[in-house]
Amino acid sequence: MRGVYIHIPFCKSICSYCDFCKFLYSPSWAGEYLKALEREIKEKYDNDEIKSIYIGGGTPSCLSKEEILNLFKIIKIFKINSKCEITFELNVDDISINLLEILKENGINRISIGIQSFNDINLKFMNRKHNKKEIKEKIKLAKNYFNNINVDFMFALPIENYSMFLSDLHEFINLNVPHLSTYSLIIEDNTILSYKKIEPIKEELDYRMYKKICKSLNRKGYVHYEISNFAKPGYESVHNLNYWNNDEYYGFGLGAHGYISELRYENTRALNDYLEGNYRLKEFIISKREDMENEIILGLRKINGINIKDFFDKFKINIQDEFNITSLIKKGYLELEDNFLKIKEDKIYIMNEILNKILDKGEQNE
Ligand code: SF4
Repeated sequence: MRGVYIHIPFCKSICSYCDFCKFLYSPSWAGEYLKALEREIKEKYDNDEIKSIYIGGGTPSCLSKEEILNLFKIIKIFKINSKCEITFELNVDDISINLLEILKENGINRISIGIQSFNDINLKFMNRKHNKKEIKEKIKLAKNYFNNINVDFMFALPIENYSMFLSDLHEFINLNVPHLSTYSLIIEDNTILSYKKIEPIKEELDYRMYKKICKSLNRKGYVHYEISNFAKPGYESVHNLNYWNNDEYYGFGLGAHGYISELRYENTRALNDYLEGNYRLKEFIISKREDMENEIILGLRKINGINIKDFFDKFKINIQDEFNITSLIKKGYLELEDNFLKIKEDKIYIMNEILNKILDKGEQNE
């Protein structure tokens, strides 16, 4: 079974750090967009069974009630497995009884809320439109309808000191929701922060915050199952795990990516092209080597790592024979335990550096 990602590229305002594919919401564009989305799905979907649907953005919750109902009609095209996880992303300021009822009545069983911070100074810096009081009220309301809730937590803001961070972490823990996605703020190109030439926080402070998050959430019973994601047992995201397991998924909508039958593709980010039915920007068949590399890059994001026996069964190649694994185990970057190859806990923070070493043939098994 495959997963589905659906991108809704509209937002009511633009956050200072955002480099996602998004536009300011306009009802006329949204109406046209949903028509194009329906056409793309009808054209590209193989009518196979679906195990997870993630409706993200952008901000899906900024659509009007009629547009959201229209979106749910479109989703009925899919052959949905009875246990399918269906996630809908919401911004705090959009949450209302009316919206939560619509989501519940239309089969949504998981919601993901973009809180980012409780600190009003941080929220203003990010150009988020909610405040601390509103977060608490809205999460309380959302809990009346959903128990499978993720919240996003952004830390390491350039204006943030350690005590601001600690108080934010405390607030997130007190929410007592079953899933947290944490992000250290990165200043990407073509964002408001990059135009303003804002400097990132010091790396050591960023690392100190990350370690504190891991330790505190672990103590509160969260499983650290992926480098940035924490879940109470049983609440790990099916959709995200599908991606990190290098399994197949459809991506529909502007700027979406997908991976279907050895074909990886990326949709256009140009709204006009998309509305005219020119959905794809790039598509390419991946080689066996690229597929193995993806399996490693994605799989090592999981704290449990990669099952090397499954790797062999899938590719008929011993991972140690093809990649620079043995020497990295000897050097203390990786560990192999009960057939699971993983990055050592104290090295997770330098994951990208380790991945480069694994894929670098030059260093192979020195
Ligand atoms: S971070 Fe989310 S809400 Fe903010 S502009 Fe980007 S897509 Fe929109």
